[in-house]
Amino acid sequence: MQNFDFYNPTRICFGEGQISKLNDLVPQNAKVLILLGGNSARANGTLSEVITALGEREYVEFNGIEPNPTFETLMDAVAEVKAHKIDFLLAVGGGSVIDGTKFVAAAAKYEGDAWDIMTSFGAKVESAMPFGSVLTLPATGSEMNSGSVVTKKSIKAKLPFMSPHVFPQFSVLDPVKTYTLPERQIANGVVDAFVHTTEQYLTYPVDAAIQDRFAEGILLTLIEQGPKALEKPMDYDVRANLMWAATSALNGTIGAGVPQDWATHMIGHELTALHDIDHARTLAIVLPSLLRHTKVAKKEKLLQYAERVWGINSGNDDERIDAAIDKTQDFFEELGIKTRLRDYQLNDTHIDALVEQLNTHGMVALGEHQNIDLVKSREILVGAL
Ligand code: NAP
Ligand code: FE
Repeated sequence: MQNFDFYNPTRICFGEGQISKLNDLVPQNAKVLILLGGNSARANGTLSEVITALGEREYVEFNGIEPNPTFETLMDAVAEVKAHKIDFLLAVGGGSVIDGTKFVAAAAKYEGDAWDIMTSFGAKVESAMPFGSVLTLPATGSEMNSGSVVTKKSIKAKLPFMSPHVFPQFSVLDPVKTYTLPERQIANGVVDAFVHTTEQYLTYPVDAAIQDRFAEGILLTLIEQGPKALEKPMDYDVRANLMWAATSALNGTIGAGVPQDWATHMIGHELTALHDIDHARTLAIVLPSLLRHTKVAKKEKLLQYAERVWGINSGNDDERIDAAIDKTQDFFEELGIKTRLRDYQLNDTHIDALVEQLNTHGMVALGEHQNIDLVKSREILVGAL
């Protein structure tokens, strides 16, 4: 196991009715900016529940953080923070609203061009405003981590940043608030959480027993609960299990002390930036091809994955690995998520521009051992056609 420094200060208030705790969680005299996406939180009553819980506190709403939040919109929110002398941010929504709020928290304190935060991948963040979240979509883990992904529309760049200053102080996770999610978003969430787990688990060398067992538990839970969440949108226990699985997939626990891959995410970001494909769908396209491409290097872990996650025990090593990758791809398809570039009307004429984007963004040495260069990324994309 590698050395690690595990730090996660985010308080989680989990369960039905927990939004009322905002009255204790948000500082008493705070002037609050509530950050929102489109209309879902207003339409389904989550926003009014939040406002009730805030009691006498002064608040301002900022509406319109889009899926794949943009720098342009978020800078408008920074202007609101300054204009209204806001001292606490409250994200109410999915990963996009929470990621966006992290950027606003850092940008409001940053002197200079706030896009520097993204081009430095967070290294330039020295402080951030305090904030919390009310999660409405189990998927990203953003509610309990210090990462964020922001898109600059004008240059079609979707970049991640990380900083210990942008952990949420708290996140409220009420599974009931996920009942109104469309099937597409539930399926996306299952796949995003699944791939977060494999990006930390399907790596080598193999020597972190606890992290592996946690990761396998998350994958098995997603395989079991994902289809049920689609079948029974109002089953509390299913939604609760899904919600905690997604948070657990990316809150640092399974990633402590293990090599981490993230190539699927970085290649996927370019597909969203250029072709506007949902985040999770880009992962479902890239992951199977990436695993086929790296199966020799990842052999030992893929065999463990085949046996422990998919129960595959027959056949030679190669056959078992191939069967596990096929099962993974079938699982995504069964959730209604297409896994080929051609399913999104993309063909070989689109690959050059994607590789060029990776180059522009410095994504030239990906994977847990930084050995996925642009040639290999191209091969992975070609394999996904
Ligand atoms: P999202 O973009 O936050 O939301 C997708 C859609 O779901 C929106 O249209 C939203 O509508 C709707 N929605 C949210 N909650 C709802 C509810 N309870 N009922 C009905 N509709 C609801 O989706 P996401 O998958 O959570 O976030 C994706 C973003 O997170 C991407 O930009 C991705 O790159 C990033 N990401 C971040 C991390 C991280 O660690 N920080 C990890 C992976 C991915 P409204 O807009 O109307 O609310
Ligand atoms: Fe993700």
